[in-house]
Amino acid sequence: MPEGNLLESAVRDKLDELLEERDDFCECEQCRKDMIAYALSNLKPRYAGSKEGKVLLDSVDISSKQTEMDILRVLLEGAKKVKETPHHDR
Ligand SMILES: [Zn+2]
Repeated sequence: MPEGNLLESAVRDKLDELLEERDDFCECEQCRKDMIAYALSNLKPRYAGSKEGKVLLDSVDISSKQTEMDILRVLLEGAKKVKETPHHDR
């Protein structure tokens, strides 16, 4: 499996957990996609690539507590942004 997908599936799992815990975020497909896209674009430079486009995930433990916290943090950031400006009518 390509490493980028590994990160994406970790992000999707965390988003599911987050949306289950919180009732104040929209759970529609559009908002989910926006939250995932935000999280990935903020995580990828660190976890899924380098300037040369070389994948660095080998050296990062995707299931480590630190990585988990990072994913949760950017997801929460993204969820707040999406909540403020959803790509659909309320
Ligand atoms: Zn929505």
